[in-house]
Amino acid sequence: MKTAFAFATLLASAAAFAPQAKPAFNTQIAAQDFLEAEPYYDQSTVPVNVYKNKAPFTGKIVSTKRIVGPKATGETCHIIIDHEGDFPYWEGQSWGVMPPGVREKDGKPHSVRLYSIASSRYGDDMTGKTGSLCVRRATYWCPELKADDPAKKGICSNFLCDTKPGDEVQMTGPAGKVMLMPEEDPKTDLIMVATGTGIAPYRGFIRRLFAEDTPAASAYKGEAWLFLGVANSDALLYDDEFQEAKKKFPDNFRIDYALSREQENKKGGKMYIQDKVEEYADEIFTKLDNGAHIYFCGLKGMMPGIQDMLKGVAADKGIDYDEWLKGLKKSKQWHVEVY
Ligand code: FAD
Repeated sequence: MKTAFAFATLLASAAAFAPQAKPAFNTQIAAQDFLEAEPYYDQSTVPVNVYKNKAPFTGKIVSTKRIVGPKATGETCHIIIDHEGDFPYWEGQSWGVMPPGVREKDGKPHSVRLYSIASSRYGDDMTGKTGSLCVRRATYWCPELKADDPAKKGICSNFLCDTKPGDEVQMTGPAGKVMLMPEEDPKTDLIMVATGTGIAPYRGFIRRLFAEDTPAASAYKGEAWLFLGVANSDALLYDDEFQEAKKKFPDNFRIDYALSREQENKKGGKMYIQDKVEEYADEIFTKLDNGAHIYFCGLKGMMPGIQDMLKGVAADKGIDYDEWLKGLKKSKQWHVEVY
């Protein structure tokens, strides 16, 4: 039963991006507007912290799949969780997960870890009853052992990446409003900058804009531009889906990858995310001047490199960086969620 459901989920997911499958897909899910606000861009009813630590929600694992190739650095899994429609969320929000068991040091329950939701509000199966996470297994490389030390591996990410269909997950949230999409003006350009699992919220955005049949998707006339930084091509995340979206909407969706171990920046060094963004700095500054929103998500170590790069570009253009940034923050065009 579960396998059949997981397979159907995969089919729905693939069908969502396949042009030839669109009619069948549309028939299947009739009107895809049952989770919309009125009007759809009104964010006044976005749910926040409905389930708290003391009374968490129990979700059920639908599927857990490794989604990176053999040469990726580390393991990243796509995890679909069934919430039976009782745990709604918006694109860009996070769920908290309470790993089972207690802390070794004091016997207290493990603390909640946050994970950006990687699906749209309709879930990968479009039922509005599931949500997906994109989780990287945290391991600890011991320099003395010259090997991974299992005693120091990440508690929650390992719990999630080891889950099997039917397993229960204690969850809190949904959390955060920083990464919501601005939908009021459908011409708004989005610049989405991610490293690794920082891709999660943008997968939700991209599905909402380019795979679904929502009012937001029909209205969208801007350009959504994704920058993703990972180590190598085996570590790319959701590339097949993004390529399909690009094929369907070449004028509205754009992708640039920074593969640090496979590409060189213009100085002959490793191609990090800030180097890739810098290649398009003029265009990005112009877009931001014209009201684009820029998002950053991933490891917090990405931000200093990004900020230094932007500072350098601003200096070359004779722009006061601090004032420029203050302006973007004031007009809510600057969104950061790093961890
Ligand atoms: P922990 O058990 O908390 O351990 C943390 C690190 O310490 C691990 O690397 C572990 O190996 C190491 N460690 C453990 N013991 C020792 C020791 N004795 N000495 C030295 N090191 C040790 N993560 C994702 O994968 N995907 C997401 O989409 C995502 N979204 C997030 C969104 C937000 C808003 C935030 C705040 C965080 C997000 N995270 C995400 C990160 C996530 O919340 C966790 O921090 C991450 O999964 C690690 O948690 P863990 O329980 O596995 O590791």
